[in-house]
Amino acid sequence: DVITVAELAKRMGVKGKDLIKELMRQGTMVTINHPLDFETAAILASEFNYEVENVAFDEETLLEHSSVKGAEEASADDLKTRPPVVTIMGHVDHGKTSLLDAIRTANVTAGEAGGITQHIGAYDVELDGKKITFLDTPGHEAFTAMRARGAKVTDIVILVVAADDGVMPQTREAINHAKAAGVPIIVAINKMDKPNATPDKVRQGLTEFGLVSEDWGGDTIFVEVSAKLHTNLDRLLEMILLQAEVMDLKANPTKRVRGIIVEARLDKGRGPVVTVLVQEGTLKIGDPIVAGTHYGRVRSMINDRGERVDAAGPSFPVEVTGLSGVPDAGDMFHAVEDEKTAKDVAQHRAQKLRETELARTSKVSLEQLFARIQEGDIKELKVIIKGDVQGSVEAVRDSLTKLSTDACRLVVLHTGVGGIIESDVSLASASDAIVIGFNVRPEPKAATLAESEGVDIRLYNIIYDAVADVRNAMEGLLAPTL
Ligand code: GDP
Repeated sequence: DVITVAELAKRMGVKGKDLIKELMRQGTMVTINHPLDFETAAILASEFNYEVENVAFDEETLLEHSSVKGAEEASADDLKTRPPVVTIMGHVDHGKTSLLDAIRTANVTAGEAGGITQHIGAYDVELDGKKITFLDTPGHEAFTAMRARGAKVTDIVILVVAADDGVMPQTREAINHAKAAGVPIIVAINKMDKPNATPDKVRQGLTEFGLVSEDWGGDTIFVEVSAKLHTNLDRLLEMILLQAEVMDLKANPTKRVRGIIVEARLDKGRGPVVTVLVQEGTLKIGDPIVAGTHYGRVRSMINDRGERVDAAGPSFPVEVTGLSGVPDAGDMFHAVEDEKTAKDVAQHRAQKLRETELARTSKVSLEQLFARIQEGDIKELKVIIKGDVQGSVEAVRDSLTKLSTDACRLVVLHTGVGGIIESDVSLASASDAIVIGFNVRPEPKAATLAESEGVDIRLYNIIYDAVADVRNAMEGLLAPTL
């Protein structure tokens, strides 16, 4: 199956219900989200005088269904437990970097004495024979920027909160970004060595966000640590492994490789160098690969200890050379049948990229979101609200929330006081949300990002106007037009 009815309708610029009617005429009863195979889509499209080019089909077949065994034969037995992938988030200076370093050094010295670590963008540690992969770039900016590119990398977020400082603006942001991604949060209360540490104040502050510690009757895991003194780090790792066990994270190591680029750069001597986090399959030297619009063969692989490796399975980060160019962090990475296939896919993508850049259609304008709601594609309108003062933010939030109907729920992903910043825009882009600014403006960098990502930023200085816009759009488009 290559395309849903809704998606086909959108691409053809016709109403979903017209496609459904046509399918019914042909004797097929389907819903708007029903997947269609290429033949059906082609016949259907020809009824509307469209020709369907079998491009999506090619990519899907080449990339997704090309497991070594063949997609049909792959069984549940092939799924093996994989290590969790963790991102550390939190307010500036609360100890994200220190914690990443502490976990790493503690682990390296315990394992191989004198091991030289290599910063490749991710590393893995081991506790009682079980592995955990940490992404080396802390903070929600990188996390959400990746997500905006469609990359779901992180399984678990560690929220670092300094025991002597408590919940701060970026703590809130981190929570909202993690929640928007649907990623579970483990809280690490850091700097417990400080004499003025008040961990209960942190616990108290976090209850407001629904993060209630287990000893307070909630279900969020809290661990009190000191990155400085390396206190309780093993306990934190244990809790990550516990959470991972509950999540039952699995991947198929025998499939053809699918992964995500977590870092990419051009090395003077070695050419394009990328760090790949393998998500499915096992990457080997010589594999034909494609990442973004670049392709090649795996020439060399090293792990985060600078050791040469010749195979990397699910959740393992490796630094790979052999690509023709430098892809972006967050790009998908695939191993394919042969180098020709890799080249075809890469060139096809480059072509599509040029086309979309020419078209430059807005990805998430308010109008388009409502069109998609109408098509039955989405059931929620997600918004991010920024305002000049807390009071106005609350007022806008309350008024908009009241617009929720059975057909369409209005979900506030994030609110904050101050101008619209880059991370607001990337959160919106990653979540198909719009940004509403009340008496505030986007920062130049945020405006540029919104432009390139096609994120709709709506600015208001009268609450009534904001509410009226959203309500008009909802009512106008949601009215039955049959
Ligand atoms: P980040 O901005 O969240 O990455 O924070 P850093 O890791 O850079 O830490 C900010 C400051 O807090 C640095 O001066 C660290 O030395 C200090 N720090 C980090 N963890 C601890 C800790 O557990 N105890 C104490 N006393 N200081 C810490």
